[in-house]
Amino acid sequence: MSPGPEAEASVRTQRSTPQRTCIGCRSVSDRSALVRLALEQHGDVPSVVVDPRAALPGRGAWIHRDPACVSAALKRKAAHRAFRRGVDDAPLSEWLSTLTNMSVNPA
Ligand SMILES: [Zn+2]
Repeated sequence: MSPGPEAEASVRTQRSTPQRTCIGCRSVSDRSALVRLALEQHGDVPSVVVDPRAALPGRGAWIHRDPACVSAALKRKAAHRAFRRGVDDAPLSEWLSTLTNMSVNPA
């Protein structure tokens, strides 16, 4: 397959780093700037877990390691939308308090 003119233009402007959309602020960032979220099945409702190594199987969502983005995602129930199902986002709130504590005490 030879790329058409449009494909060539996108090759010129595209960066080699994969881009992902943050479910919190909805801005597009390099994959390396975001943390992957995945689902872990416990009983009926899967839990949203942080997957820093992007190693868990299945559908993933991406978010900045930023309390503002995590809290926005929780408020908007963005994880439910990203995973297209009812999910338990309690682990996200726990992660949020960890991030908040870290930014208060950057030790
Ligand atoms: Zn964000």
